[in-house]
Amino acid sequence: MANNIKILTKDIGTDGLESISVYKKLGGYLGVEKALKKMSPDEVVEEVKKAGVRGRGGAGFPMGMKWGFLAKPEGVPRYLVCNADESEPGTFKDHYLMMKNPHLLIEGMIISSFALGANKSFIYVRGELMYVIHILEKAIEEAKQAGYLGKNILGTGFDLELIVQPGGGAYICGEETALLESLEGKRGNPRNKPPFPAVKGLYQCPTVVNNVESIANTPWIIQNGGEAYSGIGIGRSTGTKLISASGHVKNPGVYELELGLPVEEFIYSDEYLGGIRDGHHLKAVVAGGSSVPILPAELILKTAEGEPRLMTYESLSEGGFVSGTMLGSGGFIAMDETTCIVRNTWNFTRFYRHESCGQCSPCREGTGWMEKVLYRIEHGNGNERDIDLLVDVAKRIEGNTICPLGDAAAWPVGSAIRHFRDEFEWHIKHPAQATAKGSIYSKS
Ligand code: NAD
Ligand code: SF4
Repeated sequence: MANNIKILTKDIGTDGLESISVYKKLGGYLGVEKALKKMSPDEVVEEVKKAGVRGRGGAGFPMGMKWGFLAKPEGVPRYLVCNADESEPGTFKDHYLMMKNPHLLIEGMIISSFALGANKSFIYVRGELMYVIHILEKAIEEAKQAGYLGKNILGTGFDLELIVQPGGGAYICGEETALLESLEGKRGNPRNKPPFPAVKGLYQCPTVVNNVESIANTPWIIQNGGEAYSGIGIGRSTGTKLISASGHVKNPGVYELELGLPVEEFIYSDEYLGGIRDGHHLKAVVAGGSSVPILPAELILKTAEGEPRLMTYESLSEGGFVSGTMLGSGGFIAMDETTCIVRNTWNFTRFYRHESCGQCSPCREGTGWMEKVLYRIEHGNGNERDIDLLVDVAKRIEGNTICPLGDAAAWPVGSAIRHFRDEFEWHIKHPAQATAKGSIYSKS
């Protein structure tokens, strides 16, 4: 793709970017100046709607539409909560952005809070990232001293208190309603939706929960206009996307790419992942964090209809559950032929079993069952009924739980069996070989 535009990462690499003086020299806080001094909150919302930016946490829900759903009852406070809990396996782009360019997020929080009429906003950061919390707190103090936070910001009459809250240390606290419970000081158990947080969120008040990357796009949108943003990307996948790439690629890391880049170019060009590590070839990809379906190499590069797969919300999900996956949180995990898919599936399932909050039976019991069955297949004790049993349990979880963790646990299992059933069968038929160290089933 010709266009190599960077919105979020263009200044990363500049010495001292985490300080307000360097950030301002590079044009920082001009978005706040423009929004607060020259625009009304509704005009800011309108620009974000025009931009068409979709939620970058994983669901891809249109950000402007979510803002538009915010209830505004008279005399009731509204809140903006930034979800910086980023715990999805394979996803580390928000962590990178906050660490490298904290003022970009803070500027985005000020603009977004102004648009939503929130006077107290929160950044809920994954609890393990204490060093990131310290970076953000220092940057918030600098922004306060410079008059961008606190009372009567830039003399406009707008007040904003910005609070950084360390997360509760559980994956489920990244689910938006569990996060709100945790922020209220309770156990992070997801709530039933509806009501959505936009109607009843923090302390039962209207609340918008947005991901770090989503909010970090707003300074650019305000400076350049929603239309300019929507001109980047392709179709309903507008703008750029941060991708955290890991696994058996030559150049793992965080990349900002224009949505619409062909997956093949992303994996094999030297500008991005540089291909698969020497002497190996691509076997499978999990494109959007561990919660999305796994795809074999041939289906990640081209759809079942032979169309080139693009890095977009639509193209990656082309083919639905049969031959598609999802862009999700942008956690792109590439696996070469040395990867045992059964072991990988067991490993993901072990994670979800451990992280299930236990509120609903299909998730609590089902993740435990799937883990046990996968363990015995991987360790040479599987029987021929186990594969269908796994499919059956996964189907009974899917769509029957309070929060998306249930689906997130079911999809990797269902898709691994759909695409790599022969590998599961081989483990059951050849237990001694399957458990021998270094022995990996491979079709090729
Ligand atoms: P969701 O589709 O339920 O909701 C998306 C957003 O839109 C939410 O904020 C929700 O409140 C809002 N919304 C939807 N319909 C609404 C309505 N009618 N009125 C008002 N608001 C409405 O998905 P979700 O639970 O927010 O996210 C699930 C995704 O999170 C998964 O797809 C997964 O990829 C991702 N995920 C990411 C991480 C991470 O670390 N980034 C971790 C786990 C999961
Ligand atoms: Fe808890 Fe799992 Fe139910 Fe979500 S799906 S509420 S994590 S038990």
